[in-house]
Amino acid sequence: MCTKSAERALVPPYRVQIGVQSFLRAGNAPILPLMSDAVSTDDDDEGAPSSGGGLRKIIHVDMDAFFASVEQRDDPSLRGKPVAVGGAGGRGVVAAASYEARKFGVKSAMPSVTAKRRCPDLIFVRHRFDAYKEASREIRAVFEHHTPHVEPLSLDEAYLDVTEDRLGIGSATRIAQLIRQEIKAKTQLTASAGVSYNKFLAKIASDQNKPDGMCVIRPGEGADFVAQLPIRRFHGVGPKAEEKMKRLGIETGGDLALKDIEFLRANFGSFADYLFRAARGIDLRPVSAHRVRKSVGGERTFSEDKSSGAELRETLEEIIDIVWERIENSKARGRTVTLKVKFTDFQNMTRSQSIGPKPASEWIEDKATFARISRELLSEALPLAMPIRLMGLTLSNLDHGDAAQRPKDNAQLSLL
Ligand SMILES: [Mg+2]
Repeated sequence: MCTKSAERALVPPYRVQIGVQSFLRAGNAPILPLMSDAVSTDDDDEGAPSSGGGLRKIIHVDMDAFFASVEQRDDPSLRGKPVAVGGAGGRGVVAAASYEARKFGVKSAMPSVTAKRRCPDLIFVRHRFDAYKEASREIRAVFEHHTPHVEPLSLDEAYLDVTEDRLGIGSATRIAQLIRQEIKAKTQLTASAGVSYNKFLAKIASDQNKPDGMCVIRPGEGADFVAQLPIRRFHGVGPKAEEKMKRLGIETGGDLALKDIEFLRANFGSFADYLFRAARGIDLRPVSAHRVRKSVGGERTFSEDKSSGAELRETLEEIIDIVWERIENSKARGRTVTLKVKFTDFQNMTRSQSIGPKPASEWIEDKATFARISRELLSEALPLAMPIRLMGLTLSNLDHGDAAQRPKDNAQLSLL
C-alpha cells in the first residue's frame, strides 16, 4: 500500500487476487454517490464488460493543476511562478492555481482578493478554454490507445478500465506509468494516476502522491487504506458533511466503518449506503465509456420532511456548497440552473432560470452567481404547498465544445 510521498517507481505489477472477490460480493447493490450523478447516457454503450462481480483493473488519471499548467506551458515567463487562472478584479474568483501559488494557500474557488492577499506576487491570467480542450483531446487519445473503456469526469480527469487492455500489457500499474509518460511526451504536462480494483479507490489513490505521482491500492488493501483516510478525502464529503461527521465523532474512514447502517441512515439519509460501502473500500460501479455529461448537480433526500422557509433556505445553502464543489471539480460551465423538489406525495416540481441567450459568451462561472440564481428560484417557489422530502440543484446547458458533435464511432472526445 502506498502512503503519502512513498516512492512511486517501486510499485510491483498489479495482480488480481481471487480471494477478494467474495469480499466484494458482500456489497450486493451498486454504490450510490451522495448526489445523483446527473449524467445521461447518450448512446447504446453499456460500459466496460461485466466482470460478474469479480475484480476489475481501474486507473484514475488526473492532470496536475491542469488550467494553470497549460498556461505555464504556453507562456514560459509564467513557469516556476505563482499563477492563478481567473479574474483579478474585485468579484473575481480563482478557477485554478499553480502549485507555486498553492504553497501560499491559494486554492480554486477562492475570491481573487483573498488569493492576492495570501500571495502578493500572484499572477492572474484569463482562462483559455480552447487551449484546455485541445490538451484534453490529446490526453484522451493516449487513453484510447490503451483501452476503449474511458469515462471522462472532466477535461482533465478520467476513469479507465484496463482489465483487458488493447496492447495486452496486462499490468495496470505498468499501463498507468506508460500513460503518464505518453501524456508528458505529447502535451508537456504532468498527470497523476491511481490504480486499484474499483473507481472509488482509484480516485483516492490518484490524489495520494500529487503532483506527478502514482499510487496503487491492491486487492485486499482497500479497507485498511480507507480506514486511515481523513473523512474529507471521501469523494462527495464536502465541508458541511465533514463538520457534521466530526460532531458525530467521525474523523476517519475507520471511525465511519464502526457506525452501523441504521445510524448512518438516521444521520445522513440517502448518503448512508454510499458511506457504508465506501468505508469498506467497496464500489461496484462499472467504468461507463462514452458518457456525455448534460448537467452537473445533485440532490439530497432528507431523513425528515422539511417545510418551513427558514429550514428550506438553510438546506439550499448546503446543497449550493456541495453542488458548486461538484461543478468546479467537473470544470463545467453552463447557463441554466434548475431547482428540483420532491413533495411528500412524491410529486416533483422544478424551476429553472438561465443567463445569457445563446450564442452570448456568458456563462455561470462563479459560485456567487450560481448561489444567487438558486436562492431566487427557491424564493419564487415559496411557500410550498406541502412538505418536501428531497431538494436538488443542477447546472445545465453546458459548454461541450466540439464534443456535442461527437461522431457516431465515438472516436472523438466527450469533454465533460
Ligand atoms: Mg486535475
